[in-house]
Amino acid sequence: MSLKVGAKTDVGLVREANEDSYLVDAPLFVVADGMGGHIAGDIASATAIDLISAHSDDARAADPGSLAALIKGANRAILNKAQSDPQLSGMGTTCTLVLFDAERAHIAHVGDSRAYLFRNGELEQLTDDHTLVGRLVREGKLRPEEAAHHPQRSVITRALGVDDDVHVDLSAIDVGEGDRVLICSDGLTSMVEHAQIAEMLETESDPQQAADRLVSLANSAGGEDNITVIVVDVARTDAGANPAQSGAVIAPPREDTPSEAVASVDLPADEPVRRRPIAKIFVATGILAVLALAGYAAVRFALSNSWFVGVNEAGNVAIYQGIPEEIAGLSLKEEHEETAINAADLPEFIRIDIEDGIKVDSREEAETTVRNYERFVQNEAPRPRAGTNDQ
Ligand code: MN
Repeated sequence: MSLKVGAKTDVGLVREANEDSYLVDAPLFVVADGMGGHIAGDIASATAIDLISAHSDDARAADPGSLAALIKGANRAILNKAQSDPQLSGMGTTCTLVLFDAERAHIAHVGDSRAYLFRNGELEQLTDDHTLVGRLVREGKLRPEEAAHHPQRSVITRALGVDDDVHVDLSAIDVGEGDRVLICSDGLTSMVEHAQIAEMLETESDPQQAADRLVSLANSAGGEDNITVIVVDVARTDAGANPAQSGAVIAPPREDTPSEAVASVDLPADEPVRRRPIAKIFVATGILAVLALAGYAAVRFALSNSWFVGVNEAGNVAIYQGIPEEIAGLSLKEEHEETAINAADLPEFIRIDIEDGIKVDSREEAETTVRNYERFVQNEAPRPRAGTNDQ
């Protein structure tokens, strides 16, 4: 197997600086999309790429542990740098890494940059977006087309540089001749429709031309963000590929490279927001039935075992005992614990849910939920990346 590569990064038409960084060090390819004020995002993504580049030999073993360790190392490097310089505090980056061995592509991923497989005319996304809307899509609550235009689409729930402990999604796919792998930042996917990306990958056979033209598409659609694209074509070594062409042709990895089967290993998600369907009608009907049958004392008992997270009169997120709904004008809730989280600091579509009341199974679960909101407000909310030009 040999790989032919094209890559391009571009500041786009709106941003002042390019905070994306990428690495083409075949068979290792990485895209990192930095965030943070001024130069910090740039430094975050470059720090990740530098660390991965410096330790790329560690990754050639292509086992999921070493790829995750590499990304965790980059996470630590960013945290260390941010701690040493207050101006860099709060910086972070996405990181989507693809490593090829003799027959597979191994993927390690955090954030909302993406890896895709283009095969037989079909474009398949290989990574989950670690975004709030990505989560809603996975739960079937939002259609992918709606997510693509959602105002909160770039609020990411996982990044390097946020926490000591970062969960890395790991997976691997078999690849063969004719397969094309695309790795890109959201500056491409938030501007260019899935079908348009597929069409370009279908019509443009040269990987460098394909990368250039995808960037041009994003810019002609507005270029609202930095755009980074890597296109990797898998070809047989004897396929007559011409090294003089724009892409690099590389040798297959060393024979001693272990290529042990790597199942898709999804580490536990650490999404900051736990959304639970609220069975309002069921609850209300149940309470009415209990009222009718057993009277108020029984209702009190039932309510003492019900918990929800809501917003109190001061506008803060609070833990309540009872249910959010009033029944026949009766308030059936009691504030149990107020948090320091101002509901106004949460994205609108989450706030609306909390204002309705998010029902949980226990007080412990309520506390976990508000802790997740706390982390969200501390870590993510100050860095919405869409809709604001340069924070
Ligand atoms: Mn971006």
